[in-house]
Amino acid sequence: MKTWIDGRIVDAADATVNVTDHGLLYGDGVFEGMRVAAGRVFRIERHLARLEIGARALGIALPRSLDGLRAIVEETARAHGQPEAYVRLVVTRGVGPLGVDPTTCERPGLFCIVGAIRLFDDEQRRRGLELITSSHRRPNADALDMRIKSLNYLGSALAKLEARQRGADDALLLNARGHIAEASVANVFALRGDVLATPPATDGCLEGINRAAVMDLARGIGLTVVERSIGRLDVFAADEAFLTGTGAGVIAIRSLDGRTIGRGERGPVTARLTSLHRQLAETEGTPFIAAPGGPG
Ligand code: PMP
Repeated sequence: MKTWIDGRIVDAADATVNVTDHGLLYGDGVFEGMRVAAGRVFRIERHLARLEIGARALGIALPRSLDGLRAIVEETARAHGQPEAYVRLVVTRGVGPLGVDPTTCERPGLFCIVGAIRLFDDEQRRRGLELITSSHRRPNADALDMRIKSLNYLGSALAKLEARQRGADDALLLNARGHIAEASVANVFALRGDVLATPPATDGCLEGINRAAVMDLARGIGLTVVERSIGRLDVFAADEAFLTGTGAGVIAIRSLDGRTIGRGERGPVTARLTSLHRQLAETEGTPFIAAPGGPG
């Protein structure tokens, strides 16, 4: 794993952050996770735009221009050298005295890590995911707006822990009203007939870059795509259900809380969207890492 920090690229093991950075002490900061596919970062402009909005919401001035951030991402990904990879770009509140007051931090911290994508393995992708409904709820937007991709991932971590302790792959989180918001680090979709539903961001989910891409792809193959509140029953009743995300790609849900979804395997529409999504990520945009054995 390669890391850009303080203007240099080092191995991740050699990258050090100050222990008084408020990103570490308070989860005060924002980040992006991006996919490198076939040597290009999938929709980097949208990731950087989301980062900028989050930083603005937190009152953090981005330490570089968006072009400057893009250059750092590409430089780090090039140093990592793999055409398939995961990029983590992190902006923290910065180093400051102990005490939560963000105004005491002089300047934001910035680093970028590039490593392998390892959210779900091939076996999980082949069989589909077994999910539980987490007892941890997504907060209302007036408590913590989940459209901001902040460093506060405790809700996701605890939901994932609960899933793993119960022998499941991952968890769905409900919002305070009992509607499904999202999975620990992915958006959720339920298909019934030719209608594909996904929760609106106002139900407490991140507006995933891959969620938007898959909504477009689904329309392209003739599905009706609706953003509407969904509950567990919509997933139980679905012909197919799946998650989307940078790490997740498009991955089938095979069961929720022990109930089999559809035929309990990856359905034909999910399979189609999985391959269309992969194809999109591998062809859209300009590669900046040469394919192995390719020219240049
Ligand atoms: N929700 C959460 C909480 C996430 O962490 C992610 C991963 N970034 C997603 C949804 C999916 O978003 P994206 O498609 O932009 O990766």
